[in-house]
Amino acid sequence: MTALPIPNIALNNGTEIPQLGLGVFLVQPGETERVVSDALEVGYRHIDTAALYGNEAEVGAAIAASGIPRDELFITTKLQNSDQDRPHEAFERSLELLGVDAVDLYLIHWPMPEVGLALGAWRALIEIAESGRARAIGVSNFEIEHLQQLLDETDVVPAVDQIELHPFHQRRELTAFCAERGIAVEAWGPLSQGKSDLLERPEVTSAAEAHGKTPAQVVLRWHVQQGRIVFPKTTHRERMAENAALFDFELSGAEVAAIDSLEAGTNFGPDPRTLNAR
Ligand code: NAD
Repeated sequence: MTALPIPNIALNNGTEIPQLGLGVFLVQPGETERVVSDALEVGYRHIDTAALYGNEAEVGAAIAASGIPRDELFITTKLQNSDQDRPHEAFERSLELLGVDAVDLYLIHWPMPEVGLALGAWRALIEIAESGRARAIGVSNFEIEHLQQLLDETDVVPAVDQIELHPFHQRRELTAFCAERGIAVEAWGPLSQGKSDLLERPEVTSAAEAHGKTPAQVVLRWHVQQGRIVFPKTTHRERMAENAALFDFELSGAEVAAIDSLEAGTNFGPDPRTLNAR
């Protein structure tokens, strides 16, 4: 099985991450092994899962069945909210389910600011990274104030912040904050989760026509051209190939600006400042 030509990005501790992967949020456990196996056959080497998704074991089964050497794969998983008070135990469980000795990236899934456990969990992730069982550690859904707390209280800068980001919700202040501090941005919901008319907007379709690409490829190219890491979700093999064919064309400055103009401050997922449910 040959890997697709996807560039790597160097994280702030030197770990290299493929800029594009496959996300498996809402992929049912019964379907996950097939979906991940298809993605690995298509040439993906980066899989983004989470304890919360309930499909780590099936991701692990696909990895094991593929025979691809472990060091050619990049596996991300996340500490779920209900486990923020027992991060070490939760991490061990994720390793066991995935059937690996180490993950490439381990993230705190949500800050849950009113619960107040994120800083303690971050200290645990630092210990996990020091033990070598997570090559890099980071966070997800952290706003500036949540990141600032980790920067003030510990010596380890998160390698990534995985946040909802798409043309309708571009998070410019947060992404500038991350850029200044060497925190790579991972855009979740890069296609707005299929919950909007993004792929029908003329700003997107006109660029698609001009380049002989699909609207999804244009939006994903808009992300990668700005240095973000993306892992669009699809269960369809043809779309896996489509979503990864982003590295043979370039959007013009005017095309990028037209997509930038879609900013509307619209999020389709929960607000990280108010999600505190464990
Ligand atoms: P997404 O923006 O990737 O949208 C997925 C949907 O887009 C699919 O269900 C499909 O309807 C559509 N789609 C995919 N490829 C397409 C194509 N080529 N043409 C037309 N439509 C297409 O949304 P997502 O799955 O929520 O986000 C991607 C990944 O981000 C997830 O799978 C997960 O790994 C991660 N994620 C993380 C968090 C978090 O809190 N950290 C939250 C949500 C998602």
